[in-house]
Amino acid sequence: MRVALLAGTYCKGMGYLENMLPKYLARLGVETHIVATDLPPYYWLRDFPETYGNFVSQSHPGTVENPDGYTLHIVGHKKIAGYARMVGVGDKLSSIRPDIVQASVCIGWIALDAALYKGAIGYKLFTGNHYHASVFPLATQPAPWWSSQRLHCMLTRTLPGRLVGLVTEKCYAIAPDCADVAIRFSHGNGGADERHYSVWKSTAEAGTFDLCVVLHGLGPGSRWAARCAVGDPVEISRCRALPIALDRSAKAHLFFGDETSIASAEALIRALPPEAAVLACFEVASMDHRWPEPEVARPEKVRWMDRAGRPGSALVSWLARQSLPSANSTTAYVTGEAWLCAMVHAHLVRDRGFRAGAVRAMPYWKTRPRSP
Ligand SMILES: Cc1cc2nc3c(=O)[nH]c(=O)nc-3n(C[C@H](O)[C@H](O)[C@H](O)COP(=O)(O)OP(=O)(O)OC[C@H]3O[C@@H](n4cnc5c(N)ncnc54)[C@H](O)[C@@H]3O)c2cc1C
Repeated sequence: MRVALLAGTYCKGMGYLENMLPKYLARLGVETHIVATDLPPYYWLRDFPETYGNFVSQSHPGTVENPDGYTLHIVGHKKIAGYARMVGVGDKLSSIRPDIVQASVCIGWIALDAALYKGAIGYKLFTGNHYHASVFPLATQPAPWWSSQRLHCMLTRTLPGRLVGLVTEKCYAIAPDCADVAIRFSHGNGGADERHYSVWKSTAEAGTFDLCVVLHGLGPGSRWAARCAVGDPVEISRCRALPIALDRSAKAHLFFGDETSIASAEALIRALPPEAAVLACFEVASMDHRWPEPEVARPEKVRWMDRAGRPGSALVSWLARQSLPSANSTTAYVTGEAWLCAMVHAHLVRDRGFRAGAVRAMPYWKTRPRSP
């Protein structure tokens, strides 16, 4: 097998991906080539000459060497729209004729060129993403789609990212938050087909997890779940933090929500010590939507409520009649439909003396009128 790795920069003697991956692929017996520009790492830094100038080795276009068992090809570069593009990468790849091209990025000139020459040369394209959420401001400071940052991201990342994604076999993200950034900002920008689901159960040894998707039939997530089959491809990005975390200092735990809340509430209930007091109530579209007792961790602690009228109404009128454990040592977790969350939150804080911080609420979805 012949593999060509494309990297924006290369510096001898370092422990970067572009030094280590070819070295160890070569040791595995893979014919490995790395094609990089003559630019050194961090060339874009303003204080590059003082910081790295005397430290990094200079590469020259046209160089072909064999360090550590692989072949290094240095090509020239030119700046287009402010970003460096390899010169002659198409000819270089044609001469190498790789079975696989691994681009270190999933957007930008390198990824676009790799996607462009794939058809003519006939390799499989793998890409990568090394952008952590902490260095990608849009991932942590959401902005509306019409904001200048979003529009700029859409033009410079999402559109080219989508094009590259069309011909990409795999994208290797180096951490879960890098996968999140790649999926949301280069493949879909939080697009129409991305949905959130809670992990109900997981088995690390088998590498499997279970989700419970409500089949309401109205949106892409629900429709996908209704017709998905073994072997269908799915892109998964793990949430960086639990949307609602367990409060381990509380003595009693109350779980309120609807059908969409059961999986996450069950996962939290299973994580509680046996002595922790639990009460859960889920408002469901009809009593047929109750979960069977064997699937519920503490079935004797779970109440089911038939939805009547606006989401949350039945749940709150039941809740108003219940005596609850002391508000000082209890934490409530409220998820599900947005209006339900608002009503339950207001009831607990306003009528039952809970501190706002003791009610962990997160709307999972919002009722919207059906389009005609
Ligand atoms: C952190 C988090 C965890 C979640 N966990 C789960 C989970 O474990 N299981 C789960 O099923 N959902 C879960 N959800 C909710 C799920 O992501 C939303 O319901 C999702 O938007 C459904 O996508 P959709 O494409 O089916 O519908 P959408 O495109 O969002 O909506 C289309 C239409 O369907 C209606 N609709 C949406 N959701 C529902 C619903 N549940 N019941 C009835 N009508 C609905 C809307 O009013 C809208 O009119 C979670 C959400 C979050 C934020």
